[in-house]
Amino acid sequence: MKGIGPVRAELLAGKGLLTVSDLLYYPPFRYEDRRNVKLISQLAPGEKAAVLARVSRAKLSGFRRGPRLLEATLEDGSGTRLHARWFHGERFADSIVPDARMALFGKVELDRENGYPLIVQPEIEILHADEEGEEILHTGRIIPVYEAVGEFSARRIRGVIHRILKQIVMPPDELPESVRHSIGLPDLASAIRELHEPPENADVRLLNEFRTPAQVRLIFDEFFWLECGLALKKTKARTSAGIAFAVTERAREQIKKMLPFKPTQAQRRVMQEIADDMKRPHPMHRLLHGDVGSGKTIVAAQSAVIAIENGYQVAVLAPTEILATQHYWYFKRLLEPLGYVVAPLSGSASPREKQQIKSMIGRGLVHVAIGTHALLEHDVEFAKLGLAIVDEQHRFGVMQRLELFKKAGGVEPDVLVMTATPIPRTLALTLYGDLDVSTIDELPPGRKPIVTKHVQESAVQGVYNFLAQQVKAGRQAYVVYPVVEETETAAVKAAEKMYEHLSRHVFPNLRVGLLHGKLSSDEKDTAMRSFQSGDTRILVSTTVIEVGVDVPNASVMVIEQAERFGLAQIHQLRGRVGRGPHQSYCILVTGKLSDIARERIRTLVESNDGFHIAEMDMRLRGPGEFFGTKQSGIPGLRLADLLRDSDILEKARSEAQRLIEASRLEASAANKELRAAVEYIQEHWQRRYGLVQVG
Ligand code: ADP
Ligand code: MG
Repeated sequence: MKGIGPVRAELLAGKGLLTVSDLLYYPPFRYEDRRNVKLISQLAPGEKAAVLARVSRAKLSGFRRGPRLLEATLEDGSGTRLHARWFHGERFADSIVPDARMALFGKVELDRENGYPLIVQPEIEILHADEEGEEILHTGRIIPVYEAVGEFSARRIRGVIHRILKQIVMPPDELPESVRHSIGLPDLASAIRELHEPPENADVRLLNEFRTPAQVRLIFDEFFWLECGLALKKTKARTSAGIAFAVTERAREQIKKMLPFKPTQAQRRVMQEIADDMKRPHPMHRLLHGDVGSGKTIVAAQSAVIAIENGYQVAVLAPTEILATQHYWYFKRLLEPLGYVVAPLSGSASPREKQQIKSMIGRGLVHVAIGTHALLEHDVEFAKLGLAIVDEQHRFGVMQRLELFKKAGGVEPDVLVMTATPIPRTLALTLYGDLDVSTIDELPPGRKPIVTKHVQESAVQGVYNFLAQQVKAGRQAYVVYPVVEETETAAVKAAEKMYEHLSRHVFPNLRVGLLHGKLSSDEKDTAMRSFQSGDTRILVSTTVIEVGVDVPNASVMVIEQAERFGLAQIHQLRGRVGRGPHQSYCILVTGKLSDIARERIRTLVESNDGFHIAEMDMRLRGPGEFFGTKQSGIPGLRLADLLRDSDILEKARSEAQRLIEASRLEASAANKELRAAVEYIQEHWQRRYGLVQVG
C-alpha cells in the first residue's frame, strides 16, 4: 500500500498485521458520532459538532522552544465567526493558515471574551483545493476509532484502511449460502466495508456494542470456521476405527472391589458416559471436567479397569513429576489389590530402572504406566496401549498428544482428558469443542466449604499462631510462596529463606518440610512422602503443589504474597485442603493491593465455586491470558470476544454442526456447495491454526 514503507510495515507486523487482509479485519475498538454537521451560526454551546469552514486568521504564540498556542478564527458564510484553539499548535502551524479550508469536530463552548463560539483542541481535517470533491474522512460521519500502532495513529490507520477499501477487490464470501440465509446476515464484502465505514444512518449505540448486522456477521464468521473445524475433527473421530471395549461382568466386579467409598451421583453418571463411549468402536476423545476435589481420579481409575480387563494397557500422563508421583500412589493403592501392575516412569529414575520398566511395558507386563513426558519418549513402546488418561491437558503440548497417537501403533487409543481447571462454557466450546464433555458437578458428601480469609502481611504472626493451633489439633498445613518461574533461582531462594525462618524461629518444635521445583526428584519424593505420612506437619512450598496433591489431613493453606497469584491458581491451591472431614481454611496474606488484586482477593473470599471464579478470572485477565500464556489462547479470533459474544458463538456452533453433519450424510450426493465449504474449512484451518490433524 502506498504510504506504508518498510519501517511502518514492521510496526504493523508487530501487531500481527502483515497483509492488506489483516488490516481489513483490524476492528475499530469504538465508534464516534461526528455526523452533527452545522453552520457556525447554528452552533450551540455544550454540543459536539462538525463544521466546514475557512480560516480567516491564525496566530501562533508562546516561546519558540516550548509548546505553543495556536489560535484561529474561521468563517463559513453563515454570518458568525468561530474561534478555535490548539495547544501544541506548532504541529499545525503550516497547515492552519489564512484561506485554508478545513473540517473541525469538537465540543462547542462560548468564548467569554467576545461571545463567539469556541472549540478547544478540535479534531481537524485540512481540505486541499486540488482534492476538491475528495470525501471528508474524519469528520461529518461516524468515525471508527482504532487502537494506534506505535506512531501509526488511529487517524492514519483510518486513512490507510479507507484507501484499501477503495482500491481492492473484496475477498470472496466463503460462507455457504444456506448458512447465510438461515441467519440472515449481510454478505462478507458489505460487512467488511461497514465495519470501517458505517452507513450514514447507522445506530452508534449498536455499533459500540458490536451488534450491527455487519459486525455480527464478521464475528459469526470467526466462530463458525473454528467450530466447523472442531466439528469436522469430532466427526472424524466418531467414524475412524478405534477399540470397542466390553464392559464385562468381571470388570464390574473389579470396580466394585476397588471403590473405597460410595461414588456420588455425579461420579456414577459420568462413569456411565465414559463406559458407553469406550464401548463404541471409535476412539474416545472425552474431557472429564470438574472442580478441584470433585473426585475425578477415581472415575479415571474405573475406566482404567475396563481397559485392563479387555487386555489393554493404560498410560497416565501428568504435567509434573510431583503430580505423576501422586497419581502413581493413588492408582497403586487402588489397583494393586486387584492384581494389576502399576509402574511409574519418572524422569528421575536411574537409567537402569527406567530401562527395566520400559522393557516391562514393552512386554505387556505393566498394566498401568504413569509418568510425565518421559512416557512419550520414542523408546517407550507399549505392547498394547488402549487408553490414555491425560491430566491437566492444557499444559500438555499439541505435539505431545501427537506422540501419544503414534505410540498406539495403528489403532487410536481412547483418550480421557482430566482437567481440574474449571473452564467457562464459552472457552470450553472453543478450546475443547472437539471433545465430548463429562462434568462432575457435585462434591463428595461431608465436605465442609473451605473458609477463606484475607490477612495483611503485618498481621502474619496471628496466622502462624493459628497454624500452631491447628497442628496441635492434629492437622497439617501448607505455606505457599509465589514462584513465577520454577527456574527463578531468586524465588526459590526466598522459599528457602522462609523455610529457615519458619522452621527455626516460628515453629522450632514442629517438623517443617520444604518442597520446590529445584529439588532433585528424590528430595521431592521424600518431602512429599513425609508430608503424606504425617511426619511433616507444615510444608513450605512453591506452587509445585498446585495440582493434584492429595493429603486429606491437611486443613490449612496459607498463601503468602497472594496478590502475585492469579485467581484460578489460588483456587487450585485452595483445593489442596478441604479434602477430608475437617473444617479447612485458606488464608491469603497480602501486602498493598492494586484495584484488580483487591477484586481478585474479594472474589476468592466470597466464593468457593470454581466456575464462578473461572468466569471472573477470564473477565479480569481476558481469555487470551486465561491459560497462562497468550499463545495458548484462542488463535484467529480478531473481532470475536468470548465474553461479549457467547450468544453468537452458540449460534455459529449449531450452524457449523448442522453443516458438517449434512456434508457427511450427503457426501456421495453431488452436493457441490457443501463439499466446497468443507474443503475451504480444511484449508482455512491448515493456514490459520496449523496441525489440523492433531488438534
Ligand atoms: P480431583 O482430582 O477431582 O481434584 P480427587 O480425585 O483427587 O479430586 O479426589 C479428592 C478427594 O476426594 C480424594 O481424597 C478422594 O479419595 C476423595 N473422594 C473422591 N470421591 C469420593 C466419594 N464419592 N466419597 C468420598 N470421598 C471421595
Ligand atoms: Mg486430581
